Amino acid sequence: MNDIDDWALETLAVRAGLARTKEGEHSEAIFPTSSYVFESAAHAAARFAGDEAGNIYSRFTNPTVRIFEQRLAALEGGESCVATASGMSAILSTCAALLQAGDHIVSSRSIFGTTTVLFNKYLTRLGIDTSYVSLTDLSDWQQAIKPNTKMLFLETPSNPLTEVADIIALSNLAKQHDCLLVVDNCFCTPALQRPLTLGADIVIHSATKYLDGQGRCIGGAVVGNSKLVGEDVFGFLRTAGPTMSPFNAWVFLKGLETLALRMKAHCDNAQQLAEFLEAHPSVTKVYYPGLKSHAQHALAVRQQSGFGGVLSFDVKGGKDAAWKLIDATKLLSITANLGDTKSTITHPATTTHGRLSDEERQQAGIGDGLLRISVGLENVKDIKNDLLRGL
Ligand SMILES: *Cc1c(COP(=O)(O)O)cnc(C)c1O
Repeated sequence: MNDIDDWALETLAVRAGLARTKEGEHSEAIFPTSSYVFESAAHAAARFAGDEAGNIYSRFTNPTVRIFEQRLAALEGGESCVATASGMSAILSTCAALLQAGDHIVSSRSIFGTTTVLFNKYLTRLGIDTSYVSLTDLSDWQQAIKPNTKMLFLETPSNPLTEVADIIALSNLAKQHDCLLVVDNCFCTPALQRPLTLGADIVIHSATKYLDGQGRCIGGAVVGNSKLVGEDVFGFLRTAGPTMSPFNAWVFLKGLETLALRMKAHCDNAQQLAEFLEAHPSVTKVYYPGLKSHAQHALAVRQQSGFGGVLSFDVKGGKDAAWKLIDATKLLSITANLGDTKSTITHPATTTHGRLSDEERQQAGIGDGLLRISVGLENVKDIKNDLLRGL
């Protein structure tokens, strides 16, 4: 029973990928080395020719980065993982490796703002166009698929309104049309949702968020099968070079060790805060998949093992009331980052979604009174009291 295939997620998070050096260190070693030496000219030639597996140069592989990759692959249930310098470079590497000029992406409209800029401003220059659809409307996805569609792209739950997509239904649609289903699993992490087991082809991470969990490093990852990720995405990464540093990989793999515990605590705090806000007379609506009032609550119960640490809510009084609430806080951090032990509060309409036109914002459901909280690991009583100052 000591086989890695039998291990539960919590065990994999602590142990998977572990590779000790002959020093016998208990905690994983950091390898700050750019290159690796060979025993002979023939040995070097064998490595370069690919006849022998092993390290050549840290743009390609690094032992610390490899532990992180193997651990995250095990958690997501994927054959291969490629670590990247950021979440954005994970998305870029996936698109650059798997798409070409003339291809088409169908993407949820409710994705990370910078991903939209990458698709609209940069991928279009390479001849790759994107159509946007409603995350939760399957017929909208179906209608947007064209003969040259190669990829369906989404985040679930979405930011900031926490809408939940049916990954199994979308993976069936992707298979019917010979497209890849790519899921940015940043909000749930494998501790709460494993898209590959629901039929997705690729999972993307911004490791910057919950995988680190303590707001220290920028990083990302792509997980999937050994052909798509192990060969194709890795091939792009080792050539184009958006590689993760060994130090960051070490921080992230230490983050993974406490991931399951932290996600459970984030979920508990967020659930309590969501229920508290829903009962408050100054709040008109709360968006959190763990609430019975959430439009996709039943789907979230089926698809996720927890509801996550991010919630949003509308306050009465629009922008003025929302800004007043933010400015009255003393504990919450006013920052757009998420997935930290520290709770953060954001006004999407004037920050993360500030570049959208009024009409686009309305279409996205981002009202002037909307606030998003990434619920941290402080005692939830203190978070409630901090919000009560301005509510
Ligand atoms: C932050 C984020 C990204 C981008 O990740 P970086 O590490 O900042 O490059 C992508 N997707 C989602 C859902 C994010 O929250």
